[in-house]
Amino acid sequence: MIFDVLTIFPEIFDTVLGSSIIGRAQDAGLLKVTAHNIRDFSMDKHKKTDDSPYGGGNGLVMLAQPIYDAYISIVEKLEYKPYFIYMSPQGKRLDQQLVEQLAVHKHIIMLCGHYEGVDERILEEIVDEEVSIGDYVLTGGELPAMVLIDAISRTIPGVLSNEDSYSDESHKDGVLEYPQYTRPYEFRGTKVPDILLSGHHANIKKWRRLQSLKRTRERRPDLYGQLVLSNEDKKLLDKDRNDVLRE
Ligand code: SAM
Repeated sequence: MIFDVLTIFPEIFDTVLGSSIIGRAQDAGLLKVTAHNIRDFSMDKHKKTDDSPYGGGNGLVMLAQPIYDAYISIVEKLEYKPYFIYMSPQGKRLDQQLVEQLAVHKHIIMLCGHYEGVDERILEEIVDEEVSIGDYVLTGGELPAMVLIDAISRTIPGVLSNEDSYSDESHKDGVLEYPQYTRPYEFRGTKVPDILLSGHHANIKKWRRLQSLKRTRERRPDLYGQLVLSNEDKKLLDKDRNDVLRE
């Protein structure tokens, strides 16, 4: 999987995406992130990448020309068109479903805006999709691009050491993950639930599924409302309700 990022702060990407799981995945050749400095493509003698908006108003707008030339420098060597995403608070809001849809593209170019955003004509010309990481406004598109790269990368086979750790996770099947525990057995008077020490894998699986369902119902009623519960799920919830009533 190839990610090319158009930014005026390329150095940020090496620091963040060069370490931990994504860094190791890059070393293993599973993905490649290249940050391109838009400023290198400015034709202005002061390497300017922005100007004041037509029509007046505060702030600066990123110039179309350096962005376009940076884009051409990547695609001119290719025989296909990579998927082009503009990170924008006006875009489609990111969730796990959108992450998985975007992960089908083998080559993604991301544009990080700043100030008041970018000249609209560049969006009309080259952008396939605008993606927002949430309904709030950040100063630049770099953090959103890193969020998206991280989220997509985790779906690539081999990036996570254990495939199961992805398949069980929150949002994978519309539910939140069950609670996790590690050593010590007792911490400040609270013990790990006995079932997890039982060694009975089928019962542990059922317990985890029940915790996932209850957590989702309590914390994210919006997600819970969209769930299609299986007969097994209904049985687990009924049994839990009866156990609580009996206590
Ligand atoms: N004037 C723009 C507007 O009102 O829609 C906001 C520009 S914002 C200050 C500067 C840049 O940060 C944007 O061009 C975009 O690349 C990035 N950005 C800010 N918030 C974002 C979000 N929630 N998701 C994705 N990108 C975001």
